[in-house]
Amino acid sequence: MTGVHAELLKRRQAVLPSWLSTFYAEPIDLDHGEGRHVVDAEGNRYLDFFGGILTTMTAHALPEVTAAVSEQAGKILHSSTLYLNRPMVELAEQVAEVSGIPEPKVFFTSSGTEATDTALLLATGYRASNQVLALRNSYHGRSFSSIGITGNSGWSPTSLSPVQTYYVHGSRRLNGPLGGLHGLDDAAFTAACVADLEDVLGQVKDNVACLIAEPIQGVGGFAMPPDGLLGEFKKVLDRHGILWISDEVQTGWGRTGEHYWGWQAHATDGATPDMVTFAKGLGNGLSIAGVVARAEIMDSVPANSISTFGGSPVTAAGALANLRYALDHDLQGNAARIGAVLRAALDKAAGLPGVAEIRGKGLMIGIELVDGDGQPSPQAATEVLELTKAAGLLVGKGGLHGNILRIAPPLTLTADEAEHGAAILVTALNKTAAQTP
Ligand code: PMP
Repeated sequence: MTGVHAELLKRRQAVLPSWLSTFYAEPIDLDHGEGRHVVDAEGNRYLDFFGGILTTMTAHALPEVTAAVSEQAGKILHSSTLYLNRPMVELAEQVAEVSGIPEPKVFFTSSGTEATDTALLLATGYRASNQVLALRNSYHGRSFSSIGITGNSGWSPTSLSPVQTYYVHGSRRLNGPLGGLHGLDDAAFTAACVADLEDVLGQVKDNVACLIAEPIQGVGGFAMPPDGLLGEFKKVLDRHGILWISDEVQTGWGRTGEHYWGWQAHATDGATPDMVTFAKGLGNGLSIAGVVARAEIMDSVPANSISTFGGSPVTAAGALANLRYALDHDLQGNAARIGAVLRAALDKAAGLPGVAEIRGKGLMIGIELVDGDGQPSPQAATEVLELTKAAGLLVGKGGLHGNILRIAPPLTLTADEAEHGAAILVTALNKTAAQTP
């Protein structure tokens, strides 16, 4: 490896932690972007189907966001929550309005991890319990408390934890012990997971604070509970007064196409979560995240609390412009329409040797890769990433075994771009399939 990237890689390795991994044998530096495309520091142009981990939600260099950020940056960068901060109030109003939570109140943080921490603080305080339910294969952040509810061992560097967590089944259909390999259809799988939840609760001492769940697990490789499962869980939770936190960091703001929030696919009998956490897409790359919760829960913190940077004037102004753009241009509708185009084009790879499953909703599609024995194949995923990169397409990967391709372009994706990117992917999958033993 020679050139600009090689030199930067060397410098990065010298000063940044070894556990901060990069994609690709020859990692790239994304220098600039426009729309759904990015250009690296060596001048190579890519169609971006990963958006910096589902964070570039609308588009790269969206003029509306750039203008809002520049205008606010020219006025004042920071004031803190000790002062009123108009952009933060306006953004909170907008988030509350779309939240679907009754009597919503919003707290802004700088990262999804802090949003998780806040939700745990609220739930454990409100319920006077440090006991938490989470799904196996989950990811909710990198802090001490969010690692404590991370069921994906690859992202859980310590077993020390301030919370007592019980993991329940719910998402892994293909390779999990209750999965499709065992012939369970949606209804039977849901019933088995509800029975598992009941069983866990029957063995837990005292009260449990909350259940936190991603409606589609992001880092976990877009593993999906059947629609309605979390709503069935909610019925059990209600009997115990346990709160439901929906982690919408990857699934929020219309990405799944059919709904604005991932939890809405589960909302049987009008069930709503008690809290929603959000991050990534809201700021289109600006570091803004937060929690929206029922007022009674949000207001229950018995001491002062503050996030110095959360909802800063610049990030809030940019996020507001981004959110309004997404709403005004019906990007949820675009995710549904173009997601269907993308899915149909990707389905040409269904049935290839090594392609175990293509799944997802809207513009959030996972492709699970296995070897000739049906075992997870992280090698195949790595190979597809290299092949697609060489052909000018960026995609992601994840899952418990790193064998699931993650495809999540900005929500302004066009039909032509969907077809073009899918063709590159299908070609790469064909090549990898030819090597599957
Ligand atoms: N929750 C989910 C579902 C996530 O995917 C992530 C980030 N991958 C987080 C929380 C944590 O967000 P952050 O990296 O901004 O702290």
